Amino acid sequence: MKNNKIIILDFDRTLFNTDNFLIKIKYIFKKMGIAEKKFTTSYKKIKPYNLKKHLKRLNLENKNILNNFNTLFKNSYRFLYPDAIDFLKFLIQKKTEIILLTYGDKNFQNNKIENSNIKKLFNKIYITSKNHDKENIYKNILAKNKNKKVIIIDDLEENTKDIVKKIAHIQAIKIDRNSKNNKIFSKKRYYEVKNLDQIKTIISKL
Ligand SMILES: [Mg+2]
Repeated sequence: MKNNKIIILDFDRTLFNTDNFLIKIKYIFKKMGIAEKKFTTSYKKIKPYNLKKHLKRLNLENKNILNNFNTLFKNSYRFLYPDAIDFLKFLIQKKTEIILLTYGDKNFQNNKIENSNIKKLFNKIYITSKNHDKENIYKNILAKNKNKKVIIIDDLEENTKDIVKKIAHIQAIKIDRNSKNNKIFSKKRYYEVKNLDQIKTIISKL
């Protein structure tokens, strides 16, 4: 039997150190002669981001290059934040339903998630290529589980603070890994934390 909570977890910058992963991608592009400025300008134009589209845009499609990226993707698990697995296991031990909800290109996201070796820890995984869809998915989950407490964990204000104002009953926790503040901030149905460990104490009280 599951408990009465459903946790909806974001992937990038919540469980996964996306910025460090990007540094590695940038480095591979640099070795191919693409300067940082050119990388960043072209990177920003691809939404949702997909490596193959990026290589195509810069006329860099060839197999040798893809091998470098494959090695990076295979090492995705190294980019999980140190508290990620422990937190997921904590939720499983408490018999909490866990949903992974991530925005991005399906292949690109799936490649990172698959190679992070965490797929089996989730009850369900959603990859949406429109960030706005997250709101609809929250609403659907809430509508299907009226007797449960639905809690979102995400690094973006638009997916946490703003959602609490738009959707009644839902609760949200914004995680800011770079925050200088070590204390938990709490307001009605809304929290701000620096790491997943802090969420353990919040969740037990919800
Ligand atoms: Mg995120």
